[in-house]
Amino acid sequence: MQSIEMNPEAAVANLTRRSWAEPWKVKVVEPLKMTSLSDRKKAIAEAGYNTFLLRSEDVYIDLLTDSGTNAMSDSQWASMMMGDEAYAGSVNFYHLEEAVQKYYGYRYVVPTHQGRGAENLISRILIKPGDFVPGNMYFTTTRLHQELAGGTFVDVIIPEAHDPASEHPFKGNVDLAAFERLIEKVGARKIPYITIGATVNMAGGQPISMANLREVSALAHKHGIRVILDATRAVENTYFIQQREAGYAQKPVATILKEFCSLSDGCTMSGKKDALVNIGGWLALNDADLCDEARNLVVVYEGLHTYGGMAGRDMEAMARGIVESVQDAHIRARIGQVEYLGQKLISWGIPIVRPVGGHAVYLDARAFYPQLTQDEFPAQTLAAELYENSGVRAMERGIVSAGRDPESGKNRYPKLELVRLTIPRRVYTQAHMDVTAESVLDLWQQRKTVKGLKMVYEPKYLRFFRARFERL
Ligand SMILES: *Cc1c(COP(=O)(O)O)cnc(C)c1O
Repeated sequence: MQSIEMNPEAAVANLTRRSWAEPWKVKVVEPLKMTSLSDRKKAIAEAGYNTFLLRSEDVYIDLLTDSGTNAMSDSQWASMMMGDEAYAGSVNFYHLEEAVQKYYGYRYVVPTHQGRGAENLISRILIKPGDFVPGNMYFTTTRLHQELAGGTFVDVIIPEAHDPASEHPFKGNVDLAAFERLIEKVGARKIPYITIGATVNMAGGQPISMANLREVSALAHKHGIRVILDATRAVENTYFIQQREAGYAQKPVATILKEFCSLSDGCTMSGKKDALVNIGGWLALNDADLCDEARNLVVVYEGLHTYGGMAGRDMEAMARGIVESVQDAHIRARIGQVEYLGQKLISWGIPIVRPVGGHAVYLDARAFYPQLTQDEFPAQTLAAELYENSGVRAMERGIVSAGRDPESGKNRYPKLELVRLTIPRRVYTQAHMDVTAESVLDLWQQRKTVKGLKMVYEPKYLRFFRARFERL
């Protein structure tokens, strides 16, 4: 990739640095429909100014999510013909088990249809009503399963995670004092485990350091509390450890990943992210009795313990995806592309959440549109404007996503109004990133004349998916 010039110091630094490029070439292409401004105006109005309601065929560059939107390799596609679709004991399960054991290091593997399937199993096994489950910031499905099992989630992430301007290199770290205070307050017997997200999605794809996880693990284990990793983007997390933490610069990410996972007792995994597939997940554990319970439950909720809701071919593609995902050249290009887009926007003075995270760039919509009140939906407006401007689809993360307080029925007013540009793995080129960045720049230059939206339809649950708006 071309290095980009941000400021004089960075430009000088870049003279000593060579460009890099993706470790793959394109073999199959998926044509995209090219649309005109008037096509897009019509499409976004019909979608009620909600990017979730657009038809995918009307989208040019789809940055809605990195979940299940990965491009598979030729080896993964070839493996789709190697599916052993036997009901029990599929050879593809054993390949998946071997890959998880080899690269993540856990002893036992229970396949699930995707990440939330694994979250359901572990929550049901370990949480009793009245228990507390600390974690480094909540994730939607993770917290919901903990609550459905009768637990209460307690956020113990460091305060810097909530500050978009903080440049802390490991904003996903656990506040050890907060974790210790919770243990003192409720007692270790009421804390079955701590969930560690790596990277932390809701904080903007921010990593946790090896040193912090080591301390968390020591404190938890001293009190008989288990550590369960949300390993969804753990490979991306280990890349940040390699880049930022002393002592890891010379180690391959595969080596760092194994050390990282060894500090936990098990993990839940959404293969739709790091593992380079479109569907799949797993629960991994080191304890034989817990694994036995998980195998009992997986039969109820997912499928037999050797397929867990997946086709054999999907397990094979995931097994191969795991191997590809821990290659240094792959992960550098993956995160490098996110960084490229983020640095380009920073160099133009466009306000984004910093440091740039592992899977997405977040635009600060409040800084774009200070003339809009939060009730005029600045982030929803910016996402709609972006689509109209260039056909790039992003996602609102602000007052619409935050929803209403279930008790008072009043709107929640989150501190942040963000628009998330999430980069799928191995899907788009540097030119797509340039088109995206230039469209954002165009909106930044026109920001003063923009008016907001009003909500004209509000669904009862998770309103951001289907709410409809009109221009003010
Ligand atoms: C996506 C995701 C999940 C849930 O996984 P699904 O495969 O969507 O069910 C859990 N945790 C994190 C951090 C995620 O990003």
